[in-house]
Amino acid sequence: MADKETRSRRLKTASDIARFMADYYYQLDEATRSGSRKIAWCTSVGPAEILKSMGFLTYFPETHAALIGTRKLAADFIPSANAIGYSPDICSYLTADIGAYLKGVTPLAKTFPGIERIPGAHVFVYNTNQCRDVQDWFSWYSKEFGAPLLGVETHRNIGEVTAAHVTSIASQMENLIEPLEKIAGRKFDMDELKNVVALSRKCSVLWEKCLATASAVPSPLTFFDATTLMGPAVVGRGLQSVIDLYGLLLEELSERIESGEGATQGGERYRLYWDGMPVWGRLSMHSKLFGDLGAAVIASTYCSSWIFNSLDPAAPFESMARAYAELFIVRSEAYKEKYIREKLEFFKCDGIVYHDAKTCPNNSNCRYGLVQRLRSGTGIPALILHGDLNDMRLISDEQTKTNVEAFIEQLEENS
Ligand code: SF4
Repeated sequence: MADKETRSRRLKTASDIARFMADYYYQLDEATRSGSRKIAWCTSVGPAEILKSMGFLTYFPETHAALIGTRKLAADFIPSANAIGYSPDICSYLTADIGAYLKGVTPLAKTFPGIERIPGAHVFVYNTNQCRDVQDWFSWYSKEFGAPLLGVETHRNIGEVTAAHVTSIASQMENLIEPLEKIAGRKFDMDELKNVVALSRKCSVLWEKCLATASAVPSPLTFFDATTLMGPAVVGRGLQSVIDLYGLLLEELSERIESGEGATQGGERYRLYWDGMPVWGRLSMHSKLFGDLGAAVIASTYCSSWIFNSLDPAAPFESMARAYAELFIVRSEAYKEKYIREKLEFFKCDGIVYHDAKTCPNNSNCRYGLVQRLRSGTGIPALILHGDLNDMRLISDEQTKTNVEAFIEQLEENS
């Protein structure tokens, strides 16, 4: 049935995924209250496999920050973080999340009845592959909670991922083991790590296949739906239950392809690719805005960020180092240009939308001429939307609407 707000047809598996996410937060809450399990905070593309193999429950504050965004609460919290020295111009995940903590509030409480606070922490583990902000973010909480801070420093602007990159990052990951053993109170077991890496890889392969179904015409999936469907790939990679979930999702998407059922209510006169962060507080609005104009936003760079197909249980540390250094966000401009060009072709896109997120330069790819280079190389029209992932004060809905309508008109004229 059509969702009157989003203009996309809801997938049945979305309910299973929502239940998985609820269970995930309740398990963290129970562990926080009872102390039954050690909890590690991890960045979204951090070395989660190591932590899981050592028995930690893993909490990813970026998902909490995104929840603040979808609930449109960030502007209430950001000023509190600004007041202790975190600029309004830096990552609005960081400022919204720390601001919420300072105010003693969490959207988890309304979303999951019975949960009153964010999870506790025994250790904070980051990887700077996505940005430096995560290091600052975790560093603040580490002091606040009095728990150790560990991290991996990843090179930036990587063209080809070389043996030198892999050796450097793998050795940093191996160096995490000794302090983690002390915190976990147990020995590291290589077989357990191999098992988690194998599960994580299976999750990655399935998630990639789910996203790839969007190459079908009409697409059974939209970018807006994928931003919530990807939750288990972020928080639950390395678990069998997530593999089962994505197996179901892939089946459902394949059934849609067989029956010719597209995800976008009203059809897809134009197929669009989204680059950059989602605007969490405007997912429904943007889905409707594009859907009403017959434009299906079907694929994105963002949702592909949790594909780690280089993971290999035969060489866990080296393959983790490679997989987490191969991410789009870590790569050179030349790599990014080639990547997007290939995706536009694979997904048969008529246009591309770049979200220039004010507080996330790391995931805004329209600032150094890439838009123009890709446009002249492919002839595919591009639209830049100025906004933000979380801070809705940085968005003009009127301007967005006007720009999107003008863009679709341009596509009409070109067709
Ligand atoms: S990549 Fe962007 S949104 Fe994500 S943590 Fe870093 S600055 Fe924030």
